[in-house]
Amino acid sequence: MAIAEKIQRCIESSSWIRKMFEEGAKLRQIHGSENVYDFTLGNPNIDPPPLFYEELMKIAAAPEHGQHRYMSNAGYDETRDAVASFIASSSGVDLQRRNILMTCGASGALNVSLKTMLNPGDEVIILAPYFVEYKFYIDNHGGVPVDVWTNRDSFQLDIPAIERAITTKTRAVIINTPNNPTGVIYPAESLSALGQILERKERELERQIYLISDEPYARIAYDLLEVPNIFKYYDNSIIVTSHSKDLALPGERIGYIATSPTMTHGDLFMEGAIFCNRTLGFVNAPALMQRLVAKLQHESVDVDDYREKRDLLYENLTAMGYSMVKPDGAFYLFPKSPLADDVAFVRAAQKHNLLLVPGAGFGAPGYFRVAYCVDIEMIKRSLPAWRALAIETGLSGESK
Ligand code: PLP
Repeated sequence: MAIAEKIQRCIESSSWIRKMFEEGAKLRQIHGSENVYDFTLGNPNIDPPPLFYEELMKIAAAPEHGQHRYMSNAGYDETRDAVASFIASSSGVDLQRRNILMTCGASGALNVSLKTMLNPGDEVIILAPYFVEYKFYIDNHGGVPVDVWTNRDSFQLDIPAIERAITTKTRAVIINTPNNPTGVIYPAESLSALGQILERKERELERQIYLISDEPYARIAYDLLEVPNIFKYYDNSIIVTSHSKDLALPGERIGYIATSPTMTHGDLFMEGAIFCNRTLGFVNAPALMQRLVAKLQHESVDVDDYREKRDLLYENLTAMGYSMVKPDGAFYLFPKSPLADDVAFVRAAQKHNLLLVPGAGFGAPGYFRVAYCVDIEMIKRSLPAWRALAIETGLSGESK
């Protein structure tokens, strides 16, 4: 075998999102891109805010000597200061530069965090439905993912189920709020309850357990909701996030780790994370992007744009008989599959040129994901296909 057996297996069972994307390319060739409705990818179709380009032009117009050189593996001091003061001002938690490590996106932040904390065989609890890359990231660093379901009706945290899953090997729990794929935001009361359980388990098991809150969608929250800051509810907590979604910069790979100022051995964790950022080969987060995001901490893409798309799809699909939780944030819907077999449903959708991802791709068979970070005109054009699919799969297909 030319490559590692494990990687060969991973490629063969490759991600649903990628599979559907490839199917889409085929359909576009046959039917023309106007007639294919691709809701598979969480790749924002809007551009970064105007201030991003203004700051970029300023840097390009007056280059400073050394601005493209290596810097400290943790990132520029000014950027870390800007991030720390943004979090402090929006949450009231006293955060400093030493709590911030700039990374290559939230993916980089997750890998660095997991490498820093995991011993071989340590367990990491992930909450279904989840972003499937978590499994690969945990495995990258010798950990073992443990699936726990959220509440199947609301997709909110099932605290007793999390408590039952904690063992003498548990090292971390990963939460993701606002959530991909469900769009839910966990309220302060749930986070507080989770924090209390984890504190109790830490005492009982005499073991440090980390809570990792993955928050790349934190600024994409609707209806005046805010994502509560996890540091208020649990000391050994870490925020991993990026500007892939809130500033629409996924290709630029810029994000960060923020650690709670009250974390046990927090300075040691940060020292380990800086080492891992270096030795995983990231070395440091991209220099140019660090300079830019330092100036853009209070900016975000137009959340109303996503809200309009959410409302259009949610209202039309629910009228047709599809059943789903109304998302509080992010840019995904996660309806119940009208057919028991979600893969069969997604195949049926494909015949109407509708490209969706089965819930199986998120550890949650029986559902499907719709990524609505797409052109609103495409959403409007897709409605007759949704209606035909509803009728074909036993729903009413009524108009709004
Ligand atoms: N976490 C979640 C829940 C995501 O949906 C994504 C990307 O889609 C990521 C992490 C990774 O984001 P990044 O581009 O910052 O690496």
